[in-house]
Formats: sequence, C-alpha cells, structure tokens
Amino acid sequence: MKMSSKRQKSEVLFANAKLSIPGGVNSPVRAFKSVGGNPVFMERAEGAYLYDADGNSYIDYINSWGPMILGHNHPTVVEAVKLQAEKAFSFGTPTQLETEMAELVKSLVQNVELIRFVSSGTEACMSALRLARGYTGKNKFIKFEGCYHGHADPFLVKAGSGLATFDIQTVPGIPAGAAMDTLTAKYNDLEGVMALFAQYKEDIAAVIVEPVAGNMGCVLPERGFLEGLRKLCTAHHTVLIFDEVMTGFRLAAGGAQEKLNVQADLITFGKVIGGGLPVGAFGGKKEIMECLAPVGKVYQAGTLSGNPLAMAAGIATLSILKNNTFIYHQLEQTTSSLASGLKNAFSSKGIPVVINQLGSMISVFFSEHPVRNFEEAAVTDIPLFNRFFHHMLDQGIYLPPAAFESWFVSAAISDAEIEKTIQAIKTM
Ligand SMILES: *Cc1c(COP(=O)(O)O)cnc(C)c1O
Repeated sequence: MKMSSKRQKSEVLFANAKLSIPGGVNSPVRAFKSVGGNPVFMERAEGAYLYDADGNSYIDYINSWGPMILGHNHPTVVEAVKLQAEKAFSFGTPTQLETEMAELVKSLVQNVELIRFVSSGTEACMSALRLARGYTGKNKFIKFEGCYHGHADPFLVKAGSGLATFDIQTVPGIPAGAAMDTLTAKYNDLEGVMALFAQYKEDIAAVIVEPVAGNMGCVLPERGFLEGLRKLCTAHHTVLIFDEVMTGFRLAAGGAQEKLNVQADLITFGKVIGGGLPVGAFGGKKEIMECLAPVGKVYQAGTLSGNPLAMAAGIATLSILKNNTFIYHQLEQTTSSLASGLKNAFSSKGIPVVINQLGSMISVFFSEHPVRNFEEAAVTDIPLFNRFFHHMLDQGIYLPPAAFESWFVSAAISDAEIEKTIQAIKTM
C-alpha cells in the first residue's frame, strides 16, 4: 500500500494484535479483509475527527458504526460519564437511572410502553425474537436477505454486511435446527412475504426487518413495503419487529417509525442509544413485554444490563437529541449536500454511481442500476469501491471498510468536512 509508511505504528500494532486476537480484531468488519490492506489503529477522537496511533487525522464517516451521532467527546456526555464513574460502575441492583432512561425512550419512541435494557444490539434482537415466539406460541419467523440482526444463531442466514463481505453463506457452528425456522424473503418484495404467509399461515411468530436497511449498504424501503408488512402481521397475529438498532434515534428522535410513519409491535435498539457505551434495548406493547420474566415466563437476563455508566451516557445523548431536534434537520442537510456533492464529483469523472440516502444514513454504490435489495447491492462494482476506500483513507477520510456498509454522518461534521471530502474525489 503506497501510504502505509504514514501508518507504521498501526502496522506494528496489527501484527502484535494478530498474535493474541483472531485476525487481530474483535469484530470481523474492522479488519480490512474486503478492501485489502491493514486496519488503522485509532487512539483518540474529537468532534468529526479520528486520530490514529501515528498521529494521522481522519474525518469520521463511521462514527463507531452509528453511536457517535453527536460527534466524538461531546462535553455533556463526557461529563455525565465522569460524574457516574465517581459514584459507582455497577451494582447489580436496580437504579433510578434505568427508569429515567426508560422514560426518556418512551417519550421519544412510539409503541414503546415497556422497555428492557441489554448490552448490545445482538442481545436486543435475540431477546425480541424469543419474546415474540413466547408471546405467540409460534416458532417460525421471516427475515430479509441482506438485513443483519446481530449474530445470534437463528439470524445468521443471508445476514448482510459482515457475512457478505467475507462471502460466508452458511456458518459452521450453527446447527441446522437453530436456523430451521428462519424464513427469508427479498427486501422490498412484499409478494414474497405474502407467499410465505400463504404457505406457513399459522406458524409465523414474527417478521423482523430493518425499516431502512443499513447492512447491505443503505437501502430504502419502497412505498408500501413496510405498510404491507404491518397489515400482514396484524392479519396473522404475527409480531412485527422493527430492528432499529441502526435507525433508532438516528433517522429521527423517534427513529424509522416516526420518519416513515409505520408502527411496529416490538422495536430493538442499540448503537445511538448508548452514545458509545454498550447499550441495547427492546421495547413495545405492554401485553407482549409482560411475557418477560419476572412478570411472565420468557426468560431473559443480564449481569451488566442497564449498567449505570452506560445509562449515564445514554441519558445524556438522548436528552441532547430530545432537546435539540433541529440536529436532525441539520444532519439531513449535511448528508444531502454530501450526497449531491458525491454524485457530481463522480459524474464529472464519468463514473456511474447510485447514492442511497435517508437522513444521516448514506451509501455509495458503483452501479448504473438502482439498489433496492441485497441482490442488487451484490452486483455493484466492489473493486472500484475498494479503490475509492483506500484513496479516501490516504486523503484523511475514514469510510466504512466494506462496500456493504452504510456511512453515518455525525452532527460534528460541517460544510468544511463535506467540502474536503468532495475535493478528495477529484484526485482519485
Ligand atoms: C449493529 C446491528 C445489530 C447488532 O448490534 P451489536 O451491538 O453489534 O450486537 C443488529 N441489528 C442491526 C440493524 C444493526 O445494525
């Protein structure tokens, strides 16, 4: 790699990491396996910028894969975490912070009558599925190709980004039985879903969907798709789960439900909800949520669930978003100008590009054709994306290191960073 001399410390740190950690990373997509080259080791971050071990700076378009919607080191969030750190890290008892956080989420998100906190999006989705099965007494569920719902066994079927990046079709270690009740349909293909309902009428416990998909790149729901799922679920006594781990508190304070005006029965959260600390959550209708232990018999638990430090970061982050909803307007504007700037820059180079964007989620597909589902994302020009990625990295712009990932814009990114990003394309 031509610029690797700029990142010598990262090279050494990666070599060392590989001696103790599989592939040198604790989550596969952090490795640069798909784009080639070696990952950059970060040391600190501030606002819109990341700083690596060699002291290079980068405009950050990953924002920890979504959580840092306010940018890095927002002073109010930092202060809240410091204050809590001085009181206690963890009790394993209930705290007022959890109720405060629950009330805050309820005040922002429709259809959340009760909510339970966990420590990751994976846990949230896994628990929501178990709950939907326990509530309905049915086993099967429908998910969409290219949607990711964490790495619990039943979900790792046609599961988008991470797996697509590494071309993993079936996952060793998952017994056939664990995925036996997983039905898959194409994103935006309502007729495919109707066919599954016709075939498995009384057996479908849940439909789980990313209301705006972010794990096959950003793919938007077409008009009528989510509304159609809502109707089918209501008609079949099936729980509609919106996986808002990515979209929650990002597309709007009320997430995709608010932005797109469609109602879910259960909603899962992660990423933004913890403001960078490990928080996940699932919530929904009281009647369903009360099936959870200790009220009901659907067991679910967590030693560090509702952890005070994590709640402090979450409360601070969500409060800022709640009290400054113009942030969403600003994010939308910044990201739209990024989208049009990217489009113009590539057009003037004669490179066909499709840019999918909603709010502060955006992705660039090198293709002449619209991208509405995983199949269409998969046939875009991946080698060109990889070249684009490395060019931008060398220009100090940090994009997700895989074509099948959404970028996440933060409120710390201003017109100056957008301009610098667009300019960087000209030398590609
Ligand atoms: C990131 C993500 C998850 C998994 O969350 P983790 O915190 O990584 O376990 C689940 N669903 C969606 C839509 C996600 O984007």
